Amino acid sequence: MSEIPGRRHLSRHVGWWLARAAARRTAAAAAKHPYAWLAMTVVVGSLLLVAIPIGLTMSAAATTPPAAVAAPAPMPGGDAPAVPIATLTGHPNFSASPAVLADLDAGIVDARVVALLYAIVQRHTIHAGVIRTGHSQCVGGGSLEQHPMCTESHHWYARAVDIGLVDGRPVSAANPSARALVAWLATAAAEHPLRPAEVGSPFVEFDRLPGFWADGDHGSHIHLGYCGPRWSRGQWEATSC
Ligand SMILES: [Zn+2]
Repeated sequence: MSEIPGRRHLSRHVGWWLARAAARRTAAAAAKHPYAWLAMTVVVGSLLLVAIPIGLTMSAAATTPPAAVAAPAPMPGGDAPAVPIATLTGHPNFSASPAVLADLDAGIVDARVVALLYAIVQRHTIHAGVIRTGHSQCVGGGSLEQHPMCTESHHWYARAVDIGLVDGRPVSAANPSARALVAWLATAAAEHPLRPAEVGSPFVEFDRLPGFWADGDHGSHIHLGYCGPRWSRGQWEATSC
């Protein structure tokens, strides 16, 4: 812990300074009233008992961080390695819709999504179609105003992405590259901190894995999402994963 040069020195001498001033007053008073020296000595002693602890306390305060300082808010993405937006968007294996690029440029996208996309483009070429802009607020469509009991999509919090093309071909059950990507997420990346909590795809063979599913809504894209607090069925769902 660093400290401000000279501050400790100053505070440690506060007690000494107060005592010296009191001693001078004592000497002056004793010169005028010889029998008052005893009472003034008691006063000086009392001042020393008060002033020295004050000086020591100030000295300690100068080197101890304030207890009231709140911890900084965690960065989006938790422990995910930070990947600069330009590093992702400038990668030759990455392409995206104008809406995704706008979300990325706006700096609203969860760092885990950015880092995951960057990890994926080391293996495949991909095209990201949607993050937040262009996606409904509610899972299944519509807004919370329209459907007060809906569950908000993680897209709404910019912590999910839909990938429509893998290695130059549309995502479908017939795209082996798309399947390889999902298989990588299911196996090689299973213990990786970047493993998404949600993997929706056309590939039913991964349905048994936690967070993986295949349905008609994900026959033509791979949905990758991360957990976080969201409004769900009339209350906050404080998921953190
Ligand atoms: Zn999605």
